[in-house]
Amino acid sequence: MARRFGRGGIPRRTPEELRHMRAAGKVVAEMHAVIRDAVRPGITTAALDRLGRDVIERRRATSNFFGYHGFPAVICASVNDEVVHGIPGSRVLEEGDLISVDCGAIVNGWHGDAAFTMGVGTITAEAQRLIDTADAALAAAVQQMRSGRTLGDLGSAIEVVVAKAGYGSPRDFCGHGIGRAMHEDPDVENRGRAGKGLALDSGMVLAIEPMLIAGGRDGVRLLDDGWTVVTADGSLAAHAEHTVLVGEHGPEILTRG
Ligand code: MG
Ligand code: MG
Repeated sequence: MARRFGRGGIPRRTPEELRHMRAAGKVVAEMHAVIRDAVRPGITTAALDRLGRDVIERRRATSNFFGYHGFPAVICASVNDEVVHGIPGSRVLEEGDLISVDCGAIVNGWHGDAAFTMGVGTITAEAQRLIDTADAALAAAVQQMRSGRTLGDLGSAIEVVVAKAGYGSPRDFCGHGIGRAMHEDPDVENRGRAGKGLALDSGMVLAIEPMLIAGGRDGVRLLDDGWTVVTADGSLAAHAEHTVLVGEHGPEILTRG
């Protein structure tokens, strides 16, 4: 039997635990697919939340977002300059908007968590470049999810992609360990130095989530609703996230459909 805990006391998930985490990840992937399909000019963010709720109910899962510190919905819907934690509601999406959807699910007590950003209808080339860079930063970090690599390798992979594109990234938000709770140790920073920090072991599962600010700075502020985080400079933001396993033979994205 392999050691139950990896370096830093971070749990290494057993095959049985991973079965549940894959199931939770599949529910999250289905929520993403259904919501992506529905995004168009004229739809409200509340309608997208309803669709996410329907998937959770259909799969007999539960939401790890609804009720989290009082959060009132199963998805976060963050539009344009909103970086993360936007509350779904009566806002109507318009042609050219960017929307980030972050959501999660619990199956048999095990959590999944993932986010994507997409355009509403036709968007500018510059907005598309922001989305593509968020996806590229996430993909670069996923490639570091190998035994012996470090959290610094992950953060550095993200930072390099984001900086090269000329974008910024908020310092106060980061990825996280995930398992029996949505947010577990360790913090997974979106910046770092290659080779530094906690070394990864197979069986560890992390939620990796680069957040990008088009204006190139890292400043954000919180709206009066107590949740929505917006860019301080009013520029566009993008967010991409997957729940990822350090597999025996390389990275495995648990929240991919
Ligand atoms: Mg998330
Ligand atoms: Mg997360």
